[in-house]
Amino acid sequence: MSVNREVTYVSVILPIKFREEIIYIIPEKSLSETNATASGANNESEEQASQLRIGSRVKVTFANKVYTAVVRSFVTPSGNLKQIEYREFDSLLPLSPVAPEQIKLWEEIADYYMCTIGEVYKAAYPLNATIQESIKGRKRPEDYFQELARQEENERREKQVYDNVEKNRQLTHSVKSMSYFNLPELSEYQRKACDEILKNFRTSCEAGSSKKKESTESSREDKFSKPVLLQGVTGSGKTEVYVTLAAQVLEQGKNVLYMVPEIAISKQLNSRLKKHFGERLLVFHSKQTSAEKAFIHKVISAAPDSKKGVNGERLSKGIIVLGTRSSLLLPFNNLGLIIVDEEHDISYKQTEPAPRYNARDTAIMLAGIYRANILLGSATPSFETIYNCSHSRFAKVEMLNKFFGASDPEIEVVDTIWARKSGQMRGNFSQKLINEIKRTVAKGKQVLVFRNRRSYAPIVECSECGTIPKCPHCNVYLSYHKYNNTLRCHYCDYTIKYKNSCPSCGKSTLTYKGSGTEKIEEELKALLPEARIERFDADISKSKRKEESIIKEFSKGEIDILVGTQMLSKGFDFDNLHLVAVLGADSIIGIQDFRGDERAVQLFTQLMGRTGRRTEKGKLMIQTSQKEHTVYKILKGATAENETLVSGLLNERREYNFAPFVRMIKITVRHRDINKLDEICNQIAALQIKCKEITGPFIPPIDKVRGEWLKCFYVKFSRDKSLKENKTALLNSIESLRKPNNIIFDVDPL
Ligand code: ADP
Ligand code: ZN
Repeated sequence: MSVNREVTYVSVILPIKFREEIIYIIPEKSLSETNATASGANNESEEQASQLRIGSRVKVTFANKVYTAVVRSFVTPSGNLKQIEYREFDSLLPLSPVAPEQIKLWEEIADYYMCTIGEVYKAAYPLNATIQESIKGRKRPEDYFQELARQEENERREKQVYDNVEKNRQLTHSVKSMSYFNLPELSEYQRKACDEILKNFRTSCEAGSSKKKESTESSREDKFSKPVLLQGVTGSGKTEVYVTLAAQVLEQGKNVLYMVPEIAISKQLNSRLKKHFGERLLVFHSKQTSAEKAFIHKVISAAPDSKKGVNGERLSKGIIVLGTRSSLLLPFNNLGLIIVDEEHDISYKQTEPAPRYNARDTAIMLAGIYRANILLGSATPSFETIYNCSHSRFAKVEMLNKFFGASDPEIEVVDTIWARKSGQMRGNFSQKLINEIKRTVAKGKQVLVFRNRRSYAPIVECSECGTIPKCPHCNVYLSYHKYNNTLRCHYCDYTIKYKNSCPSCGKSTLTYKGSGTEKIEEELKALLPEARIERFDADISKSKRKEESIIKEFSKGEIDILVGTQMLSKGFDFDNLHLVAVLGADSIIGIQDFRGDERAVQLFTQLMGRTGRRTEKGKLMIQTSQKEHTVYKILKGATAENETLVSGLLNERREYNFAPFVRMIKITVRHRDINKLDEICNQIAALQIKCKEITGPFIPPIDKVRGEWLKCFYVKFSRDKSLKENKTALLNSIESLRKPNNIIFDVDPL
C-alpha cells in the first residue's frame, strides 16, 4: 500500500456546485478490501485503480446522496480537526484514476470561468454514476488496440515496399516517408505554411527544452510554445495542412485533438480524415450514446503500456480525436497537438450550464498543461485572436490563395426595398434571385439558400384581436412548425399541437407572420417544381440518419437546392455548389450587440466560402433592405480596405471599453419572483466592486426563460496582472450575498 498512514484524510471533488473544501477520512477497512480484489486483476489500469492516489475515484456519501468523487489531495490532520465532523468515504472504486493533468485543467477552468471544480468534473464525466460507467461499450479497448496493431502491421509492410521502390529511384522526400497515411501532395504555399507553423512550434519548444527538466510552474510557462493562427482564405486547403501536421505527431506516437465547432461538419470531415488515419481516427460529440462515449474515454486514457497488439507489441503511433468543444475534457494522455478549426466560431462557447467555457481559449490552457502545440485555423479570425496576434501572443501564418485557384466569388447585394416597390418580389424571393437560382440549376449546379430561422412561421397572430401566442415559461413567442403541426418555444422546447383557434378570443383567425426555413422550402418547391429541394436545420438533424443522408446526397449532387440555417455555413466542402443565397439578411446585420458586425462579416464570409470551391467562380447573393451597410462594404472590399475597416471596428471597441480590450464578465441574476430578482440586483448594484466599469442591471432581450426572470450586469476589468485578484474579489463579494445560487457568471461572454 503506497499510502502513508500518517496521512489519513483526503480532499475530494464532487460533481456539484459547492465551493467549500470537502474532506473525508481514509477508511482502513475499505483499502484492504480493494487490495484483495485487485490482487486478482491482470490488467494494469485495474491495478492502478486499486491504489489510493491523487485522482482516484471513491464512493462517498454527501448530504444523503452517494457520489463518485475524485481525490484531489491528501491532507494531513492539523490536530485541531474535530474527527466527528469528518466521516470515512465509502470505498475506493475500481475505476482508472483521473490524471493530474486533468485535475490541473479543471482547476484552471474553474478559476478562469468562476465556477467550481465540481462543475467542471461533472462536465468532464457526464456518466458519473459508477453504474453507468461500467456499461460495456460494443467494442472493448483491448479489441480496438488489436485492430490498430493490425493496421500498423499493414502500414509497416506498405512502407517497406514503398521504401524499396524509392531506394531504387534514389528519391528522398520527407513527407513521402509516411506514405501509409496517404498524405496529400501539398501545394507550394501549403508546404510553406506547414514549414512556418513547424518553425513557430519549434522555436518556443526548443527555448524550453534547452533548460534542465524542472517541473516547476515557471519552467512550464517557458516551455509553452506560442499558439499559431493559420489564417487561410476559405478553400485554401487548411484541412490538408492540419492532416499533414497531425500525421507527423501521430508518427511520433503522440495523440492529436482536432476540434470542430459543429457535429454536422465532423460528419463530412470524418470521411475525409478516415482516408488518412483509418482506425486511428475517433469521433467524439455530444450526440453519441453513453456506451460510445465510455469507449472513447477508456481508449484515450489507456496508459501507453496497455496499448498492446495481437502479439503483445506496443503500438507505435498515436490516436487522433475529431471532436466538438467538450472533447477537450477527455482524459488525454500524451497529447502532442491540438487543432482548433474555425476558431472564431461561437459554438465553441458553452453558455449553459457551467462551466461556461470557450473551447478555443480552454484548448490553449490544455496545450499548456500537456506542453502540446496548438494551431488555430480560420478564414475570418475573431477580433480576440487578431488582438492576440498583434500583441505577439500568437504567431500568424497566412495562406492567401484558394487551392483550386478559383477567384473570389462574386457578391451581389439585392435591394429588397426597390424590388418590393417595383413589384419584383414573389414571396420571400426577388425576381433577380429566382432567375439566378433557375439559371444555376439549369446548368446542373447546386444552390444553397440560407435563412437563420427554422420553423414555418416565427410567430402566429390573431387577425381579429391581435393576440400572439407566447410560451408560458419564457418571454418569447411560439413558432409554428408545419411539418408536425406544432407551436414551439425555441428556448425551452415547450410544444403544443397547433389548432387554428386564438387562445384569447377563440376565433379561427390565426395567421402566420414571417418566414422560417420550412416556408422558404415550400415557396421554392412552388417556384421550381421540377428541382430536387431539401431542408437542413436543427429540426432535421434531430434524426441522425436524416442529417447524414442529406449531407451525403447533397455532396453527391442528388439534391439541387438545400435550404438551411447556420449549421450549413461551416466548413462544408461541396464540389458543385455554385450559388449561395441569403434571405432575411436584415435580421443578421440588425443585431444590437457590439459584436454584431464582426459576426455578420464572419457568417457571410463563411457562406461565400462554400461556393466556387473548385475552378469556377461562385456567387453569393444577399437580399437586404440596407444595402449601404458597412458589413457589405467589408465583404466586397479589397483586403487593404478591409484592414482599415476592421481596425476601425477594433478602435471603436477600444474607445468604448469592449472586448478584446478589456476582460468582460456578464453577471446574470435569475429568479422566479420578479420582486426578489430586483432585490438581488439592488444588492449587487450596492456592492463596491473594484473594476474598470460596471453597468446594469439590464433587461436582456429575452427576459424570462424556463419560468425565471432575468437581469444582467456587465463588469469590465483591465487585462493586466490584477485581473485574477479582481475576479476573486468579485466572486467573494457576490458569494457574500444571501442568494449566490441565483447568480451566474459568464467570463468572456459572447
Ligand atoms: P479550407 O478548409 O481552407 O476552406 P479545404 O481544406 O476544405 O479548405 O480545401 C479546399 C479543397 O481543396 C478541398 O476540396 C480539398 O480536398 C482540396 N485540396 C486542398 N489541398 C489539397 C491538396 N494538397 N491536394 C489535393 N486537394 C487539395
Ligand atoms: Zn419556453
